[in-house]
Amino acid sequence: MTQSVGVIGLGAMGMGMARSLSAAGFSVAAYDLSAEAMARAAETGIVTHETPAAVIAASDAIVLSLPLASHVEATVEAGLAAGAFSEPKIIIDTSTSEAAVSRRLATRLADLGHGFLDAPVSGGPQGAASGALSVMLGGDEQWVARAQPVLDAIAAKVIHVGPSGAGNIAKLVNNMLVACHMLTTAEGLRLAEASGLPAEDAMRVINSATGRSALSEIHFPNWVLSGSFDSGFSAGLMRKDVRLALELAQESGCAMPVSELVASLWSEENSGVSDNQDFMLLGRVEAGTKEKTNG
Ligand code: NAD
Repeated sequence: MTQSVGVIGLGAMGMGMARSLSAAGFSVAAYDLSAEAMARAAETGIVTHETPAAVIAASDAIVLSLPLASHVEATVEAGLAAGAFSEPKIIIDTSTSEAAVSRRLATRLADLGHGFLDAPVSGGPQGAASGALSVMLGGDEQWVARAQPVLDAIAAKVIHVGPSGAGNIAKLVNNMLVACHMLTTAEGLRLAEASGLPAEDAMRVINSATGRSALSEIHFPNWVLSGSFDSGFSAGLMRKDVRLALELAQESGCAMPVSELVASLWSEENSGVSDNQDFMLLGRVEAGTKEKTNG
């Protein structure tokens, strides 16, 4: 049974997962590029290391929570180059990454006796901190079984979607829908307000009727209508997901005219929201309000 777990990437998601793992009784080793994130982790009893390879060497299972697929690949390659993969290990990559990269790493590590699961997550920083994420897994059954105790500590729901890369594909489909729902929900509420119905009243109805989604039930009440815009997910990372979903569509020859329009509305230029701002700003109900037409 896995006892020592590494976490590489201690941002909005990784920090919460590291703490959930610690609370579940695992001994947790961690690394982040940011000294400040490392110091905050150390305050809660997490053992920090100077390099990602040292975290891999010290752990049976390693959870990655990194911005991009290129970071995931570089981290695993650095671990291999440093000889950190001495015992059989399982990498659980919770980053929103790319199926092709996951398949490449799963094959490369399987040849050496190690496992790699694509394990993107949904549920935000709140889900990570409370061990209540939803995880969508791609990879072999034997490695899923091996990862189960770690997954139990970070997730309320685990769905084994299929072979390597399947979790990444499911996550990109999910997040493309989130991007669409964000704009259509804001537009619906804008129509309600422009026609004299307060957004809160329209929302009560939508959430009891068929127009609802996680965005209308959770995100808009908590982070848009409240005016807080602090969900803990950056617009830049969400734009990455939209871009990857459209790249996947292109590779698969799948037409997505609505998503293409949504992607263009999501751009920094068209939305006025910069990469480092919270993604919920894309849902501002007042944005895009036009002059009334006469007649
Ligand atoms: P974040 O920007 O808050 O944190 C990323 C962390 O990774 C930072 O602390 C950064 O210093 C660190 N980092 C960057 N490159 C690194 C490297 N090479 N080695 C070690 N550390 C490195 O991002 P986040 O919101 O925690 O997202 C992490 C991943 O989870 C992303 O792939 C994101 O798309 C995905 N995700 C985020 C959310 C969310 O709500 N925030 C939800 C689901 C999935």
